[in-house]
Amino acid sequence: MWIGIDDTDSAHGGCTTYVATEIIRELSSEYDIIGYPRLVRLNPNIPWKTRGNGAVAIHLGRGYGKKRLIGNIEERVYAYSSGKEIWNEDLVKKIDEIIKKHAHFYDEKTNPAFVVCRNKPSYSFYKKAVRKVVSIDEAIKNAENCIYRMYKEGRGIIGSVASCSWRPYDRTYELIAYGNEKWVDEDSVIKMDKKIASTFDNYDYENRHVQIVPNAPSPVMYGIRGDVAEELIKAMNMIKSAEVERWLIFETNQATDDHLVRKSIRDIEPFESVIVRGTVSREPRTIKGGHVVFSIYDGDEIDCTAYEPTKGFRNIVRELRKGDIVTIYGGVRKEPRTINIEKIKIEKLVDVYEKVENPVCPRCNKHMKSMGKGRGYRCVICGMKVGEEMALRRKIKRNIEERFYEVPVVARRHLSKPLKRM
Ligand code: ATP
Repeated sequence: MWIGIDDTDSAHGGCTTYVATEIIRELSSEYDIIGYPRLVRLNPNIPWKTRGNGAVAIHLGRGYGKKRLIGNIEERVYAYSSGKEIWNEDLVKKIDEIIKKHAHFYDEKTNPAFVVCRNKPSYSFYKKAVRKVVSIDEAIKNAENCIYRMYKEGRGIIGSVASCSWRPYDRTYELIAYGNEKWVDEDSVIKMDKKIASTFDNYDYENRHVQIVPNAPSPVMYGIRGDVAEELIKAMNMIKSAEVERWLIFETNQATDDHLVRKSIRDIEPFESVIVRGTVSREPRTIKGGHVVFSIYDGDEIDCTAYEPTKGFRNIVRELRKGDIVTIYGGVRKEPRTINIEKIKIEKLVDVYEKVENPVCPRCNKHMKSMGKGRGYRCVICGMKVGEEMALRRKIKRNIEERFYEVPVVARRHLSKPLKRM
């Protein structure tokens, strides 16, 4: 059976993955864990998420096959590669107690739920929940043959069902280490990042930022992401930090680009994440707050924004010129309607020229005078007129190339696939 949980934490602390460790601590003497527990990120653009819109799913049963070390929660935790399904409704009471003990009920934005599924809900529900806005009713419809509990408004049912319905066609892993004291040695993170090549997004060299440590209050001390689960244990052993009280490896949809859908501009809806190709139609300008905005056109027009937290990435975007062809990857904001850029593929750079000298009059052999921007030139001696194109122009060197550029690690969204993985 699959257990899905979501919306147990608040902006003041807590973490649904920590609740998952508590479920494992309480239940692992009675049940086996099948496969890695899952941390499933859902639509990153919904306004009511606490932080990263993550939900958790755990598969319990009677295990067989290969047994792997996946964590330490008071004792070593193992998971089986396969398992026989079992069904025990008594489990619901235990999970209810754990949620009541750990969820941040006092926060009005926290609306917990959990689900226990006999069969996995349809994959299409995950697809929708990672890409669109879905309703509580849709989640309940997809929870047929499942037992669920909803607390307060119970919105967590959406993430609970969606996390159980994910199938890892593409996947990464995250080892999460928990501890009361929060201290991580920066140099050890850099060393680990350089040594364990299958990990990613550990450290932002451009902005000197330790990315594995969460910004918000949480029981999490750090999380290391990578493509190979076993190597995350090696990576953890390289990190110098305060005492790790427990750790657990999750299989996740992070860094998979699962949220993105290829679209034409006219079909783009708010709160989606899109891949859209167009021609730069309005050149980049910096607006209040340091955000850089430009527009692209494919028959319709839309704004694209590199927000201030994307730091040096804005300098790449500032180099775009009218006529450049680009493909934008990013989340769609409703108000103002704009794409929050996660990465950009520069497909074709146009030739850009700058004027070096006014044209020379062919009769008088003297430089001509401009008649105003875009109006051409006139000879002050004989009065002869010529067009703009007669000025002496020089091709400007473009400071960007025809390739992918991505936001720095510090601004990376959980679901965004880093170029390292592409
Ligand atoms: P954390 O990352 O710390 O776990 P969070 O950012 O995951 O916090 P939640 O507290 O889980 O935030 O809040 C997200 C809420 O949005 C949950 O109630 C979840 O069920 C709901 N939700 C998730 N995906 C969608 C969606 N596509 N449409 C509508 N609601 C959604």
